[in-house]
Amino acid sequence: MSALTSAPDREGHFGPYGGRFVPETLVHPLQELETEYDRARQDPRFQEEFHYYLREFCGRPTSLYYAERLTRELGGARIYLKREDLLHTGAHKINNAIGQILLARRMGKNRIIAETGAGQHGVATATVSAMFGLQCVVYMGAVDCERQALNVYRMKMLGAEVVPVTAGQKTLKEAINEAMRDWVTNVRSTHYILGTVYGAHPYPMMVRNFQRVIGDEARSQILEKTGRLPDLLIACVGGGSNAIGLFYPFLEDTSVRMIGVEAGGEGIQPNKHAARFQGGSLGVLQGTRSFLLQDDQGQIQLTHSVSAGLDYAAVGPEHAWLRDQGRVDYTYATDDQALAAFQRLARSEGIIPALESAHAAAEVIQQAPRMRPDQVIIMNLSGRGDKDVAQTARLLKL
Ligand SMILES: *Cc1c(COP(=O)(O)O)cnc(C)c1O
Repeated sequence: MSALTSAPDREGHFGPYGGRFVPETLVHPLQELETEYDRARQDPRFQEEFHYYLREFCGRPTSLYYAERLTRELGGARIYLKREDLLHTGAHKINNAIGQILLARRMGKNRIIAETGAGQHGVATATVSAMFGLQCVVYMGAVDCERQALNVYRMKMLGAEVVPVTAGQKTLKEAINEAMRDWVTNVRSTHYILGTVYGAHPYPMMVRNFQRVIGDEARSQILEKTGRLPDLLIACVGGGSNAIGLFYPFLEDTSVRMIGVEAGGEGIQPNKHAARFQGGSLGVLQGTRSFLLQDDQGQIQLTHSVSAGLDYAAVGPEHAWLRDQGRVDYTYATDDQALAAFQRLARSEGIIPALESAHAAAEVIQQAPRMRPDQVIIMNLSGRGDKDVAQTARLLKL
């Protein structure tokens, strides 16, 4: 198992996945980033600063909340929620944004760019940019700008420039293309804050390490509360950063099962979902090799999910590798299951989750009743649902 947690190798490979597939002009900046990150990681002052802002600005540690009513209703395992929804800006994305902006400052970059799907990563990046007084440009698909208007306004309030991307499907994939194009052009002055465990090395490793604070906290909190390790961890998987953040510190605990939940959309048929492990295959997209939804010609397929944050054709390379090794199981929840779980969490616990997190809750609803009352589930509640309330009200005809 120790081989698992020391990944990736020096070139950023997680087994056959990962690596660095970029234009020539980005090779040097990625090396520079890797070198600076390695230095920062070993620098106690950097770690201290990182944890200072997580605590004082973001509100860490987040609580590990015993969901008593949901537990009683489901009649099985005890359910604990890791409350990333309580963080400043409303999701786990801020953990990574803080880490990367501190790195950008160390590297003397004065301009920040980012891509965003649902807008949560854009808001987190605009927030930390404002906090440190750095210029910020966020690329966002034009369709997503419409779907997530609230987050567009938030970014603008924070002083960021939001660039709507009108190419292709006008969603996250095209926004990433534009951000990479910007980075190639402005690489001397600019750091690209990528929002998940995806892209070229060192991003998947670096973002994981910034997000592992979720699992580190959860591990000591559950030991304190119950005197034992959990039996099951459940998290939703878009690129995979909140899931790996929770899972990583438990990987060597062989008694702990883990389930990642992808977006099943309208069901597992071409173009109707974003569950890469259901019908996906090996390929290279946007800097890394991983599992993708593609057709026979290698064209990236259209994806669909009710949740913009899970609606992407590829998954982080470390997840593909953990799946190959049987360490983590991956399943999916459909739009309908996620919407039902969204309502259930709101009414049973008084917590309106992000639609992304509702996918994890849908799996909790499946798993808990099959388990014994002395067993324990930790679900990562990756974000709050304010951004999704209008859309959900429409879908549920409230
Ligand atoms: C962005 C987002 C996700 C999906 O991204 P991961 O990198 O897979 O975590 C999940 N939940 C929320 C609340 C998000 O904002």
